[in-house]
Amino acid sequence: MDGIKGELLQYKGGGYSGCIWEWNYSAVVTEGECAGYYVIYASGRYGCTTAEQWEVFEQNARERDLYRYTLTEAGLASFVEESNAGHVKGVGDWLYNEFGIEVMATCEDCGREFPTTDMLAGGLEGCGGIAVQFSELFCENCYLTPNEGQLDEARWDAAQDMRKSLAARFPEAVDELDELEDEQLGDVFEQLLRRAGGYWEIEGKRYTYPSMDVVTVLRDVTAADVLHMAR
Ligand SMILES: [Zn+2]
Repeated sequence: MDGIKGELLQYKGGGYSGCIWEWNYSAVVTEGECAGYYVIYASGRYGCTTAEQWEVFEQNARERDLYRYTLTEAGLASFVEESNAGHVKGVGDWLYNEFGIEVMATCEDCGREFPTTDMLAGGLEGCGGIAVQFSELFCENCYLTPNEGQLDEARWDAAQDMRKSLAARFPEAVDELDELEDEQLGDVFEQLLRRAGGYWEIEGKRYTYPSMDVVTVLRDVTAADVLHMAR
């Protein structure tokens, strides 16, 4: 970030349906040929799309409505620390494209640092209204690979669905199928999913196999197949 001196501004801009306000972002560069006011994201009635609007807002802003981060490694680290993952990604990409400034963040799964331009936002959470925000940042590798805890949970869910579907589909083998453990059923589901070219979709993260439900993966399977695969 050589030569770029200034601040990233995070402030309460305009609202959207269901939320009273949302964070807006601007940058002010104080020196050099890039000096000026830059709009990163502005919305609604308090969004500032010009330097003049910003001046007025700044004079009247309450402390909790405005945060300033210097465009330095330390300043941007505290921005990353304090802010929603989706915003970190959006603002990080903007700063890189506009000024070549790299914003570094930590991958939620593997704990390693990456420039946000090489990361993806996931882990959906609501914000009380219709808007959905991302709560976590992942490196590309982790984004495409489920972690063990998430996979275990998904296998368990799949096992419960498998149990119901198998009972409906193979009433003659229900006793034998009932003896299978959750773990075995989850494992069979995963084998069938991979065989069919399906993918797991877990907590807003998408993995390498196209998503399918239990009914689909069981379509061409017999009770004997399931019992065989479980062993
Ligand atoms: Zn990672």
